[in-house]
Amino acid sequence: MAERRHVLIIGPQGSGKGTQAARVAPALGLVHVAMGDLFRSLMQHDTPLAREVRSYYDRGALVPDELTLRVLLAHLDELAERDGAYQGTLLDGFPRTRAQAEALDRVLAERHEQIAAVVELAVPRTVLIERLSGRLICPQCGAVYHRVFAPPQVPGRCDRCGGELIQRSDDTPEAIARRLDLYEEQTAPLLEYYRQRGLLLTVNGDQPIEQVTHELIAALRPRLEDSHGNHAEITS
Ligand code: ADP
Ligand code: ADP
Ligand code: ZN
Repeated sequence: MAERRHVLIIGPQGSGKGTQAARVAPALGLVHVAMGDLFRSLMQHDTPLAREVRSYYDRGALVPDELTLRVLLAHLDELAERDGAYQGTLLDGFPRTRAQAEALDRVLAERHEQIAAVVELAVPRTVLIERLSGRLICPQCGAVYHRVFAPPQVPGRCDRCGGELIQRSDDTPEAIARRLDLYEEQTAPLLEYYRQRGLLLTVNGDQPIEQVTHELIAALRPRLEDSHGNHAEITS
């Protein structure tokens, strides 16, 4: 079996990570793993862990690194158990801090897995605020919509599963501003960390959804060819 290879997608809130990852991951033979979705599904049950996560989540604050890593690793183990042959993940929303990036390097090394590429979605702040204030999500399947830019076919209903669309509890003006500041402080510096290792690609996320998808796939596909000259099973 080929070694698992992961791709990280990094960009500010509203840059389109979730939207794009859902489209790009299947085209590249990767499993989309969204840290925020893992937390949202965990919070659907009232447990001590869920209450702890919620105390950070609703303020737009980052969940502590140790807890975040634990939730992520449990999910990766579950993926491997379900399908031992899965080729890798498109990781959306992790890492967001230097400590998380270093922890990821450690756990991937232990598992003999690699980061194939890190892709940055670049979008100006004014556009981000417009996107986040109109965002709607499906709590059942994680699909992402926008009231104006990506409306569902039937208002208020998920195209994919028929679920009722909601506005996220942290998509309020205060929590949005706070999360964008946190991104600049804590996550944007990671771009340099990966650039120095020759892993970073940048795609302009301020374009129509289809065009961004096209550029992401074109940029990532060559990075997922393995070092023995074989091609991972990639479909278009
Ligand atoms: P956004 O990109 O809009 O911040 P996400 O769905 O990716 O939304 O994340 C929602 C919330 O989940 C974050 O505000 C934070 O509370 C928590 N979270 C997600 N990813 C991480 C992470 N890597 N580390 C800590 N907290 C996280
Ligand atoms: P992130 O995961 O980076 O926070 P999302 O994928 O949730 O971003 O997108 C944020 C909002 O912007 C959603 O409402 C989504 O429908 C919308 N959106 C995403 N990409 C685009 C785009 N290229 N043009 C216009 N709106 C977009
Ligand atoms: Zn749905």
